Order: sequence, then structure tokens, then C-alpha cells
Amino acid sequence: MPGYAHIAPALARVQAGIAEACLAAGRSPNEVTLVAVSKTYPPEAVAAAAAAGQLHFGENRVQEYQQKQPLQPQAHWHLIGSLQTNKVKYIAPSVYLIHSLDSRKLAEEINRRAEQVNRTLDCLIQVNISAETQKGGVAPETVADFIATLQDLPHLRICGLMGMAEFTEDLRRIAGQFRHLRKLFDTLGAHATDRVQMQTLSMGMSGDYAVAIAEGSTLVRVGSAIFGTRT
Ligand SMILES: *Cc1c(COP(=O)(O)O)cnc(C)c1O
Repeated sequence: MPGYAHIAPALARVQAGIAEACLAAGRSPNEVTLVAVSKTYPPEAVAAAAAAGQLHFGENRVQEYQQKQPLQPQAHWHLIGSLQTNKVKYIAPSVYLIHSLDSRKLAEEINRRAEQVNRTLDCLIQVNISAETQKGGVAPETVADFIATLQDLPHLRICGLMGMAEFTEDLRRIAGQFRHLRKLFDTLGAHATDRVQMQTLSMGMSGDYAVAIAEGSTLVRVGSAIFGTRT
């Protein structure tokens, strides 16, 4: 069993990295939220990060979410992975932000379960910016139409977009994909309504968060750089 003493300093390094990327981009570090992605790491790792002041955590599987969220109920819990409709009910009472809305069927279920627990749930539309078929998400050219089909779901609030760049070493390619998402975010933001507002642009992970911040990310999802390499 590895210890957890590495987590607080690693968290501080990521925070410093975010501040540095913001400074380089002429942005304020307050504009960027750090979500610590705790998937595959045990509850003790979450506790160590929380003790070091980390507020936002992300999980990509509902089962793990259910194990860890009740142990840190004061934290803000994000669901960042593909979400099956039959699992929405387990996260509806507690989830802070869903990053992976990509179908009408899922939107209807989120709306239904949110209503049952008297909540309006904040969601990001996941956009497939890398055009890799194994990654979920709505095709960039259909996002506006997709959002238009969600207007009749009052317990759902669309707060922005989420995207993952291609898994490549080519930082220019990654930057291009993030830039594409940022443009879409700006375009859609010009047509904001009460229930559709472009406030959160979720892009950037351990390997590319500095690039994402340079391209306008307002939320980075960082796992291994904080918790260590996943096995
Ligand atoms: C795992 C995961 C992350 C974090 O990845 P790291 O490379 O460990 O920082 C971010 N976003 C999503 C959607 C993930 O599944």
C-alpha cells in the first residue's frame, strides 16, 4: 500500500503550474477551477487531497463515485466519464456538475431524476473534438442543434462544454483541438438563455492542462499529476 504523503506537494505543484499557465496567458488563476480526478485511487487519496484544501473531485465511473462521495460530502463531485442512463439516479442527489451529456436520452433521464430530488442539475455538453470514435461526445457541428433540443427539460441547466484532445505528443495538434472547442464555446455563448449559458469550458488533463489554459479553459481535470501514475 503506497502512502499518501506525495499528494499534498503534487497538488501544490499542479496549482503552481496552473498559476504559471494563467500568468503566461494573461489570465487570472481565479478563472480556472482545478478538478482532482480521483478515479482508481482509494478514498484515502481523496482524503489526503481534501486535507490539503482540494475542493473539487472528479470520477468517471458511477460505482467509484458512490464509494467516495459519501466520505467527502462537503466536496464538489464531478462526473466526468460516459454516463449510462440507468446510473443517473445514483448521482442525482449529490453531483455538482456532469461533464458528459451527449444524448437526448441521457438528458431526459437527468431531467427526470433531478426533478425527483428537487434539483436542477448543471451539465456540460461533451464534444468530440478529436474525432476519435472511441471517445464519446457530440460532433462539434451538431452541438448547437443538440442544445436546441434540450429546451423543454427544466431540471437541466447547460453550463458549458467539455472536450478531450487526442492522445498525442503533438502539442500543436492538441492546441488546435482546444481552440476549436473554445470557438464553439464563444459562438454558443453569444446566444445564452436562462438555462443555456456558456460559463464553464472543461478541457485539459495532466499532460495538456497548460495548453488548455492558453486556449481558454476554465476548468482542468487533473488526475495522475496529483495522485500518481494509475496502474
Ligand atoms: C482520467 C481522466 C482525466 C484525468 O486524466 P490524467 O491524465 O490522469 O490527468 C481527465 N478527464 C477525463 C474525462 C478522464 O477520464
